[in-house]
Amino acid sequence: MKNTVRIYSNNLLHLYLMKRLFFIRLLLCQFFLLSLVHPVLAQELQKTPEVNEWWKAGVARAVITPQEYIWMAGYAARDKPAEGKLHDLWAKALALEDAHGNRVLLITTDVIGFGRDLSVSICDRLVREYHMERRNIILSSSHTHSGPVINSNLEKIYPPFNDNQRKQIENNQSFIEDQIITVAGRAISSLAPARISSGVGIARFAVNRRENPWDDESLYSPELNGPSDHVVQVLKVADPSDKPIAVVFGYSCHATTLDINKWSGDYPGFTQIELEKTYPGLTSMFFAGFGADQNPLPRREVSLAKQYGRELAIAVERVMEEPMKTLSSAIQTNYKEMELALSQPPTIEKLESVLEEGADWQKRWAETIKEKLASGEAFPDSYPYYPVQSWQLGEQTLVVLGGEVVVDYAFALRDTLGNDLMLMGYANDVMTYIPSERILKEGAYEGETSMWVYGHHGTWVPGIEEKIVHEVIRQVTQVRDKVLKH
Ligand SMILES: [Zn+2]
Repeated sequence: MKNTVRIYSNNLLHLYLMKRLFFIRLLLCQFFLLSLVHPVLAQELQKTPEVNEWWKAGVARAVITPQEYIWMAGYAARDKPAEGKLHDLWAKALALEDAHGNRVLLITTDVIGFGRDLSVSICDRLVREYHMERRNIILSSSHTHSGPVINSNLEKIYPPFNDNQRKQIENNQSFIEDQIITVAGRAISSLAPARISSGVGIARFAVNRRENPWDDESLYSPELNGPSDHVVQVLKVADPSDKPIAVVFGYSCHATTLDINKWSGDYPGFTQIELEKTYPGLTSMFFAGFGADQNPLPRREVSLAKQYGRELAIAVERVMEEPMKTLSSAIQTNYKEMELALSQPPTIEKLESVLEEGADWQKRWAETIKEKLASGEAFPDSYPYYPVQSWQLGEQTLVVLGGEVVVDYAFALRDTLGNDLMLMGYANDVMTYIPSERILKEGAYEGETSMWVYGHHGTWVPGIEEKIVHEVIRQVTQVRDKVLKH
């Protein structure tokens, strides 16, 4: 079936390249004729940026560090709430408008992930209050494991909360939601002429965590196993004098260097701080790529989080200092929520073995499923809201997926749509892990037990990778085509 996908997309890609070639020839031809008619005008055109390179951009940011020391997100092992902070957590917004008046909004946050309820609540307000279309909004999270608990995200791993703790979590969610609405409004109201460019760099600290259990000897091991994606994706927004006002960058690796009880954005937080020191006035915005099976290894020291943060900052800086691809001022977007099939729950025997041998959080999950089975409750056979989104910003394609997406999807999509893709995971709805066909078959955490962490009764079923990849190809083909027609 993979061959079918490849042939299908190769044809589309060929068509896309042919159209592009025709378009470039047409432009060259027009330019040649114009220069014959009016040499002075031709010289001016060479000096001045093309009108279609001018965008409008607006940037804003607000602190979202919780106002109380509430429970922290990401690990079952924490046994007390936050008790300090390394640095603030942020919500940041970038509004972009193209030469035709199309407007999009990218929100990045130092948050573990937004479940569907909170995401719908935030995005509905953005749609209503700023007259946006849903497909033109991306709500992304850095997946920091040093931020606050978000209600439905990883809900099964925490000890049961008392009423007061639950109230604190809900109050903090309202606070984050209000801050996001505010920064979005400020970004939109500050739209001003800008130029946008994109590029890629490299940073190598992501390690495949399924294949490389780390211990003291690993440092001296000459080989690392399993696939990793070390591409650093960069989008630069500059004012008319070419001063960078925002940089959006992505890397495919869990923000799990730290497990202490202090607020921080983990390594992406340190990268953002570093870049903002290097470029005064800059807002730097991190997004998590397809790194669900990747960890920064070794880890657990603040000094290591700083090291990885600086490594990533230097990689982004290098891209920003080199010539980047200038993007034509044209936006096309697509968004769809897909139905993905889920298996039925495990057998009573399997649940009982989890109840005997599992960790505390696994036992809590097994108990819940066992009770539901005993009461004869029906389990849904699908998750109907899996979000797939695509943006075409001039010549740059951005693919945005929900959930914790493993690295295999990066390779599958580049294989069919070309290397020049920005790939964002952990956006719009983080409902659980998204394994590839390979990892679903292999099982273990990313293929099986992570479903329990998110409270699901079963696992995804075979066919998930092909279904998602097909939808991305469909969307990307459509948005690329529409941009070329303008
Ligand atoms: Zn994760």
